Amino acid sequence: MNTPAPHIPAAHTPAAALPFPPIPTLQARDGALWLEGLALADLAARFGTPTYVYSKAALEAAFASWREALAGRRALVCYAVKANSNLGILSVFARLGAGFDIVSGGELARVLAAGGEAGKVVFSGVGKTRAEMRQALQAGIRCFNVESAAELERLDAVAGELSTRAPVALRVNPDVDPKTHPYISTGLKGNKFGVAFADALSLYRRAAALPNLRVTGVACHIGSQLLDPAPMAEAARKVRGLVERLAADGIALGHVDLGGGLGIRYRDEAPPTVADYLAPLLEAFEGCPQELCFEPGRSLVGNAGLLLTRIEYLKPGETKNFAIVDAAMNDLARPALYDAWHEVVAVAPRATAAQRYEIVGPICESGDFLAHDRSLAVAEGDLLALLSAGAYGMTMSSNYNTRPRAAEVIVDGSSAHLVRARETVAELYAGEKALD
Ligand SMILES: *Cc1c(COP(=O)(O)O)cnc(C)c1O
Repeated sequence: MNTPAPHIPAAHTPAAALPFPPIPTLQARDGALWLEGLALADLAARFGTPTYVYSKAALEAAFASWREALAGRRALVCYAVKANSNLGILSVFARLGAGFDIVSGGELARVLAAGGEAGKVVFSGVGKTRAEMRQALQAGIRCFNVESAAELERLDAVAGELSTRAPVALRVNPDVDPKTHPYISTGLKGNKFGVAFADALSLYRRAAALPNLRVTGVACHIGSQLLDPAPMAEAARKVRGLVERLAADGIALGHVDLGGGLGIRYRDEAPPTVADYLAPLLEAFEGCPQELCFEPGRSLVGNAGLLLTRIEYLKPGETKNFAIVDAAMNDLARPALYDAWHEVVAVAPRATAAQRYEIVGPICESGDFLAHDRSLAVAEGDLLALLSAGAYGMTMSSNYNTRPRAAEVIVDGSSAHLVRARETVAELYAGEKALD
């Protein structure tokens, strides 16, 4: 759906510098927040709240920064679908020529439905089922990133049944500490992901000997929200060593997949730019003939989106004041799950003195908070925007408390596209049945 904006002011006051992290296309104009050419208040009026709102220009700018940093290198950027799998988002990246990193058959179906090319899809994950392997082989994906010896054997068998050969890379675990949150660290020993570096050579020999596999590459992914480029640079040097060891063994690889993980600014973090993050990785593979692949998720979508919510009640308390909003932990799980910080801003701050609030949802859990101790000048009924919510927001949402999931909107200039309708309660239990 593409509905023209109801109202575009002819002239704006100049965009004011914002005291919060960059969604590059979010601006304060005339005392209220706008995303690209649309006022957030107008979007709330049209689509209701809570609603995830994404900026197409910000998505494109994020993708361009990857493409520019890789200019002159044979490389493929495979967007990690799990960060935000909305078909609208996927279609934006598909049109830009992106590949996709998937972790389930469901994500593959989404990519194809959004116009993505199967030949640019890499399939990661420790638990691929036979059905998912068949689906991906029939679609003709680019590569399976295999994470165990047992998966190699299973993939060989499934490919044999389909009289085809499966393209494989082994996901190796380079055993470097990414220095990020333990729940999003994946490249250390003792982690369920990847195969141990020490076992890689023998597993490659095994893969090369299996009749229905075609060894095409190597993959690694050490964690998420990486703010220091050094651990990934170390991992890249280790992987380069492995590529050369394999070549000496007669196993020539066509590509090297260095995963995703580049962090973003939520509060006061100072992540490297894409170019600074990539520089040591490109250096590690200088002069190598292999195509380089990357699987960024968060860095492509995180700061292209926000969650728009309305204050239902202000509730003063003895020690804390609460702003009870219509979004909750089922809509945005990151604060409850990782104690993550999302900047909270009033869409149209009032002239009254700011007060400190706990920003909480209506769910019956004390863990149902979106932000602690924020200073806001607001009243009941006002709109808030939770920033940096484009990644791992909607995709981690649930229906806990029988709450229909939020709508999703992509803003493109002065047009708004409803890319996911708000769920209805009837949809939530459509597959259920009371006992007779
Ligand atoms: C989650 C994941 C990514 C994306 O991570 P980001 O931190 O969002 O960039 C890439 N590759 C694999 C294998 C993943 O599991």
